[in-house]
Parts: sequence; C-alpha cells; structure tokens
Amino acid sequence: MPAALMYNLGSTRYNWFYKTTPQKNLDGRSIYWPRGRVWGGSSSLNAMCYVRGHPYDYDLWEKEGVEGWSYSSVLPYFKKAETYSHSTGPNDPYRGHNGPLIATRGSADHPLHQAWLACGRFHKIGYTEDMNGFRQEGVARMDMTIKDGKRQVQHLCCLSSSNSEQTKSGAWFYNQTGEGASSHLESGGFARSSDTVPHPDIQFHFLPSTVHDDGLEELRTAIRLSREIFALKPFDEFRGEELAPGKDAQSDKQLDQFIKKAVASAYHPSCSCKMGSENDPAAVVNPKTMGVYGVENLKIVDASVMPSIASGNLNAPTIMIAEKASDILKGKSLPKETPPIWTPPNKT
Ligand SMILES: Cc1cc2nc3c(=O)[nH]c(=O)nc-3n(C[C@H](O)[C@H](O)[C@H](O)COP(=O)(O)OP(=O)(O)OC[C@H]3O[C@@H](n4cnc5c(N)ncnc54)[C@H](O)[C@@H]3O)c2cc1C
Repeated sequence: MPAALMYNLGSTRYNWFYKTTPQKNLDGRSIYWPRGRVWGGSSSLNAMCYVRGHPYDYDLWEKEGVEGWSYSSVLPYFKKAETYSHSTGPNDPYRGHNGPLIATRGSADHPLHQAWLACGRFHKIGYTEDMNGFRQEGVARMDMTIKDGKRQVQHLCCLSSSNSEQTKSGAWFYNQTGEGASSHLESGGFARSSDTVPHPDIQFHFLPSTVHDDGLEELRTAIRLSREIFALKPFDEFRGEELAPGKDAQSDKQLDQFIKKAVASAYHPSCSCKMGSENDPAAVVNPKTMGVYGVENLKIVDASVMPSIASGNLNAPTIMIAEKASDILKGKSLPKETPPIWTPPNKT
C-alpha cells in the first residue's frame, strides 16, 4: 500500500474524515468513513485497485428497472475508459486498449503473493487469470490504476458541460501524483459463501502486512475460508500463529463477537441517489438522462447513482458510469457487447 494512503487516512488535509453514526449491530461503534477532499475525490487517495464487479451486478441493475445498464450495455464503457496492460488490442472482448485510464496487472512477485496465487490450485475457489474479464471467481493478480509508478487520478469534473470543447477533448485529466506509487494489494480474489449463491459475495484483498483495520454469516464464512486458504501447502514456509481473531475463536458466537468488535468499512459508500424507473418511489435519478426526478437541470453522475452496489471496489464502476453518462448527455450510445461469462460448474 502506498505510504501516502496511510498518511491521507490519518489526516484531514485531503480527507473529509467522516464517521458514521453509532451502529447498533457493531456494539455501538462508529465506523471511520474517509473520503477524498480534493480534485479527483476519493480516487486521489484510494488504494488503486481496479475492479469492475461481476457481470450479474449490471444485469441486476437492469432487472431493478435501470433500463440500458445491463452488463452488455456497460461493458463497452468499461473498455472505452481503459487502457489495460494485458489487453490483446481492438478485438479483446473484455479489456480496453486505448482509453484514458491506465490499468496495469499487478506483478505480485513478492513470495507471499506467489503463495496466495498458488493456493488457487489447491482450493475449490480456484484461480482466475483476469478477475475483470471472463471469470471473476478465484484467487487472482489484482489490476492497479498505476502507470510507471504513478497514480492515475480521475477528474470527472466536466461532465455537466458535456457539449463543451473541454469535455469533447476528454472529461479526463491526469494529475500524476505519488511518484513511486505502488500497492501492496497486488493479489486478491473472489469467492462464493455457498454453492447456492450465484456469484461471488466475498472479496479478498491479500495484503502481505498487518493493518488495524450485515451479513454476519458471510463474514464468518470469509474468516473460515481465509483460514482454509492459509492452511494450504503454499503457505507452509510462511505460516505463523493466527493473529486475529485467533485460533481459539472457532464457534459462530466467538466469530460474531470478533466481527462486531473489529469489522470496518472498505470505503465504498454508494446507492444513496439510485437510478431507477419513474415508477420506483425510491429512485432519484433517471437512467436515460442522469437527471434528478422532479428537479430541472440537475444531473448526478457518481457512485451514489448505483441502484445496488457492484461486487468489488467502486472506482472502476464509477468511471464506467461517468463514461456512459457522458454519451447519454451527448445522445449517443455504444453498441452492446456480449462475450461469454464463466459460470460455476454447479450452476447453469
Ligand atoms: C481510502 C479509500 C480507499 C479506496 N480504495 C479503492 C480502491 O483501491 N479501488 C477502488 O476501486 N475504489 C477504492 N475506493 C473507492 C473509490 O475511490 C470511490 O468509490 C470513488 O472514488 C467514488 O467516486 P465518487 O465520484 O462517487 O465520489 P468521490 O470520489 O468521493 O468524490 C466526491 C467529491 O465530492 C467532494 N465533496 C464531498 N463533500 C463535499 C462538500 N460537503 N462540499 C464540497 N465538496 C464535497 C469531494 O471532495 C470529492 O471531490 C477507495 C476509497 C477510499 C476513501
């Protein structure tokens, strides 16, 4: 993790430093809620993981009444926004080759990342070459919004004037900061908490260091899955005593106590002004115009318009939303793309 991330998390200089109200299900604790207080917003201080979420997330959006935002409709915008270090070029069905946001596959050459990745051969969650492509599920190298050791920061400030020359020449500005940027989050993965779940509901960030950092059942499963993975052969030469919750915490009750005491947010608030159909009383934003229902000339384009949270980190989905919104405001739309998507063997 870049040192700057930890610095910004502990300072109010570039961070709004919010806290939630006390949460009754977390023993009354308030959760720390950092947010970027600078051009580029939270993308200026985030951990630079590039994660798109699962195709089903966007198909769910459409089912939730957000017409025109299915996976096949949003994939062209993920690609348009991106230049990926391992793209195969214009015919790559999943990854972009000439967009403004550089995503680089983490090298993950630290021996602990290598051990983590090797576990994909020994555990049923498996290994995936590209969690943002054909298959999300499995352990994987993480893609990072880093190029030549520099953070990629998105300034999406021009969308509301999308007809202007400024926007035509690109709603993107690159402010390369964080010389020598690197991320210790170069591997991770996705798993399903049970075979009955259609797509991953657990995300791992594998971090070769320690950090002090509803769905109790999923969180318990995540702890147990992590234990299973660290018990595998590739970690034999590295494994020490479990630091937290500790080997004595085994029962559901003990794990729940630990979760309530320790769980924190991974900094992805969203969905507070969700897109939805006119008939949905909870919808705030019209997905065909990005306009706010009942208010003239007010558009919203950020993570708050997600109708439900994408499974993963939210920077890449937010950038996709901005890219697609930009076309919506210009009355344009890219053709749908429907490449195949991996389904678990026990699902059809
Ligand atoms: C510490 C941290 C680490 C993260 N790591 C990752 C990661 O590795 N990968 C990933 O995909 N995502 C990550 N995220 C999440 C990701 O950065 C956000 O989901 C994304 O930036 C959301 O974009 P947004 O435009 O909705 O909001 P923001 O980027 O937060 O933009 C909101 C803007 O509004 C401004 N603003 C807010 N309140 C006010 C106010 N009262 N007055 C004036 N201006 C205001 C802010 O200054 C900011 O410029 C991380 C977030 C944080 C905080």
